[in-house]
Amino acid sequence: MTRLVILGSSNAIPDKTHENTHMALVGEDRIVLIDCVSNPTVRLPEAGLEFDRLTDIILTHFHPDHVSGVPLLLMDMWLLGRKLPLNIYGLAYTLDRIEKLMEFYDWGTWPNFFPVSFNRLPATEMTPVLSTGEFRIFASPVHHLVPNIGLRIEFLDSDKTMAYSCDTEPCQEVVRLASGVDVLIHESAGATLGHTSAEQAGEIARQAEAGSLYLIHYPTGSFDPESLVPKAKKKYPGPVALARDFMMLEF
Ligand SMILES: [Zn+2]
Repeated sequence: MTRLVILGSSNAIPDKTHENTHMALVGEDRIVLIDCVSNPTVRLPEAGLEFDRLTDIILTHFHPDHVSGVPLLLMDMWLLGRKLPLNIYGLAYTLDRIEKLMEFYDWGTWPNFFPVSFNRLPATEMTPVLSTGEFRIFASPVHHLVPNIGLRIEFLDSDKTMAYSCDTEPCQEVVRLASGVDVLIHESAGATLGHTSAEQAGEIARQAEAGSLYLIHYPTGSFDPESLVPKAKKKYPGPVALARDFMMLEF
């Protein structure tokens, strides 16, 4: 059974029980990390995921709350003796900066580094990212402060589908990406530049005719995110819940 594990659910400012938003898609043969923050060497085993089995990383956009874990992850994998290749996917804007970041660390001089491939995705709707015997992943550009992608994942065995908006203003690209999905995971950071409120996320889920809605990338700390659920329900008639750290969705 392919599953999606939420590794973090907060907006850019995490707290003790909510890490920055990132998640892992776990299949039989591959584990795909969707964004990479905090301390992956600790976080992945905490979620019951084998660190060594990570095969792919999709980086949605170059903001610290989505990519700051990459240098530490790569260094720790190397120190732990990784030999398996690792595939990294993202827009050229994102991957150019990740490569520059690693150059600042002089990683070219780290001996016997395992193979890392950078796969630059075009900024066009429904771009195929990765296809395996278990699932197919597509990306579409969304509307954020820097170039960013949302994702659609189709699960071949169960015929189920999901979409993830990533950080975005409400936009028709997400409606099309999430068209008819069983699960839409939509950000709900608030109605600010480059972001979406819970009510607006509900409206997007309604337009996409999604089967269910999970809110993610919401404010935490002293803010009570449960208050967002009824706001989304005002616009969307289906089931709404908060995505929570270490929650697992089976497909
Ligand atoms: Zn962002």
